[in-house]
Amino acid sequence: MKDRPPLTPSSPWGRPTPRSAGVVEKKFGPLTVILGGDHGRYPHCNSLFVDDEIKTVIDPGCSVRALKALEEKHRVHRVIFSHYHEDHTRCARLFPDSEMYVHEADLAGVRTVDGLLEMYGVSIDLDEKLWLNALVNGLMLTDLPQTEPLTEQSLSFGRVTAEMIHTPGHTPGHVCFLFPEQDLVFSADIDLDRFGPYYGDEVSNLSEVLTSIEKLREIRPKILVTGHVAGIVTEKVDEKIIAYREIVFEREKRIFEALSEPLSLDGLAARHPIYKKKVEPYTIYRKIERNMIRQHLLRLTAEGKVEQVGADLFIQR
Ligand SMILES: [Zn+2]
Repeated sequence: MKDRPPLTPSSPWGRPTPRSAGVVEKKFGPLTVILGGDHGRYPHCNSLFVDDEIKTVIDPGCSVRALKALEEKHRVHRVIFSHYHEDHTRCARLFPDSEMYVHEADLAGVRTVDGLLEMYGVSIDLDEKLWLNALVNGLMLTDLPQTEPLTEQSLSFGRVTAEMIHTPGHTPGHVCFLFPEQDLVFSADIDLDRFGPYYGDEVSNLSEVLTSIEKLREIRPKILVTGHVAGIVTEKVDEKIIAYREIVFEREKRIFEALSEPLSLDGLAARHPIYKKKVEPYTIYRKIERNMIRQHLLRLTAEGKVEQVGADLFIQR
């Protein structure tokens, strides 16, 4: 990382440094789902351990304590990231001797923290300080320059095999993992969270999010393991995915209805159609909300439901 200006001491996310309490493990044959601390809420995530010839951790973000214990017991050979977000990569530093892999479209966001900030679209000084403080001081995130691109769609761990399913949108290189023998999909941040899908990075893409959700539905897995709170889902899987997708259309309806009068992107963001309220730290969430609204405006204008009038004003057609 480059030299940085001094950072503020407290976490701008308003959350304490992650603790390791509350971790639950569940086995599916050679697969162990490690549900993250605080029910997998950010900055934790759920991790998957493949106990096979090539011992592998997917998304090392569940808990420092649990992952340290795993490394001591098994000596992990390989770490795979579903995408570049810090809550899925933050404990990778515990596996310095492991091979590390991510989809090539997300490679830059894992290899360096600077690359991560770039993919978030952080460019303003103040934002950069806030985000860096949260990432580096709060989460102890490090550069992972040894990370290599996942080149094969089929992954072999020894006896266990998995298919990497490219599900872009949340990030360009977001992937899910299908374990056919266990009829289990690790769906990472297609997470069925009550908030709904996230597409707030500079490089996120809402149309791709919707296509990726359909791709996941087509697999019809018996067991869905999400990256966060929903965790292990075995009942009404498709219904739950549909309800999650529906949140996108509810947001779009709020944006469309607000455009009965001409509004700019900032004007729309001030109405909080995504978060429904002002969320602190506002410099960060304002950027995310603007990015997400922009994705909806792209869809609405492409579908001819909304038109742009003037430099930065939008209105219903
Ligand atoms: Zn994510």
